[in-house]
Order: sequence, then structure tokens, then C-alpha cells
Amino acid sequence: MIQTELIWYLQCNDLEKRKVERSIEDKTCYKKLSDIKKRFEAIKEELTKEAERLDDIDKRILKLNMELKHLDDKLKNSNERLYNEGYDLKSVDKMQKEIENYKDKISIIEDETLGIMDESESLKKSIRCKRSELINIKNEYDKLKAEYIEEKEKNTMALKDLNKKREEVIKHIDKPLLDKYNALYQRYSDPVSKVDNGICTGCSVKISASLLDVFKRDNCLCYCDYCGRILYKGE
Ligand SMILES: [Zn+2]
Repeated sequence: MIQTELIWYLQCNDLEKRKVERSIEDKTCYKKLSDIKKRFEAIKEELTKEAERLDDIDKRILKLNMELKHLDDKLKNSNERLYNEGYDLKSVDKMQKEIENYKDKISIIEDETLGIMDESESLKKSIRCKRSELINIKNEYDKLKAEYIEEKEKNTMALKDLNKKREEVIKHIDKPLLDKYNALYQRYSDPVSKVDNGICTGCSVKISASLLDVFKRDNCLCYCDYCGRILYKGE
């Protein structure tokens, strides 16, 4: 293999290597995973609050039911006394007022119970939705994480392979040319440039006729007189 072909091969290898390195360094995946995690935590927090509220409602309903039962018993008792015992008019009036009072209290408790039972139903529905959403988010997270791990392993293997190929090719490149390549690499990501119709594809400047004459001779190592890149004939 002639030197220019080796140096071209080295550049192709280095370009590929940089691409793989950029993929490895890319932190987009972590950002995406972190965003999913934040979304999960936010829903979990809402779910906890809703579950606590539901628990409070259940306790309140229990308490209201007990109060209701207590008032029902009292009402029943007053009614029995009103009809079975012989009271004078004053007492009857007092007991009737007492009965009305119990009925009013019962009505207030029933209204409150109905109101919070509606809230309880909508909370239960919301909790079910959030639980299912959390499962979906977790699945999304796991899937993405597995994909990233696979991608990372693939890139690590590819990088190892490219490094091996690089070590192999530089063994065959003359030191002055390799030094020149490394020096140009400080300025250009592509120190080797193909010549297309007498034009350096690195800088798009036409190569002088005298240089082109030299360049056309086989095995001749030339540099673009404008950008300084190593010129390569191409296939
Ligand atoms: Zn050039």
C-alpha cells in the first residue's frame, strides 16, 4: 500500500473513531432518563397525596356513619317515647322539637357523606389512572435504559476495534508523514484531502498546474498549496 493510501485509511479510521467517541460522550441519554425519573417522581408524589386524602375521607365516612347510627337510635328512641308514653302537651312539644333537631342533624350528616363519597369516587378513579401511568413510565424507563446500555457496549467494542486498526496502520506510515498528519490534525479534522477535477476538496481551491503535474506522478506526496492538507488521488 502506498503512503497516501495508508494516510487516507488512517483518516477514515480517525473520523469513524471520533464519531464513536462523540456517541460515547453524548449525555442526551442520561438527560432523557433523568426527565423520565422526574416525571415518575412527580406523579408518585401526587398519588401519595391523593391516597392520604382518600384515607382521611374513609375515616371521616366511618365517623359520620357512627354519628348517623347514634342519631338514628336517639330519633327512634324519642319517637317511641312520644307515641308510647303519656306526656303532657309541654313535654310533647319539647320532644317534637328534639325529634326535629335530630332529623336536621341527620340531614346535615347525610349531605356531607354524599359530598365526600363523590370526592372519594373521583379520587379512586384518579389513583387507578396514576398507578397505571406509573407502570407505563417505569416500562418506558427500563426499555430506554436497556437500549442505552446496548448502544454503549456496541460503541465500546467499536472503539476498541478502531484503536486496534489505528495502531496497526500507523506502523506502516513513514514517521515524517505521520508527524505532518498529526500536526495538521490540530487545525483540521480532515488533514487528508481528495483531489476532484484539480480542486482540493478540503478547501475547494484549485490546485496550481505545476503542483498538479507533480501530484499526478505515482507515489508522489503533495500538499495543497492553499490549505496545506495532504493530497490524495482517491479511487
Ligand atoms: Zn486545500
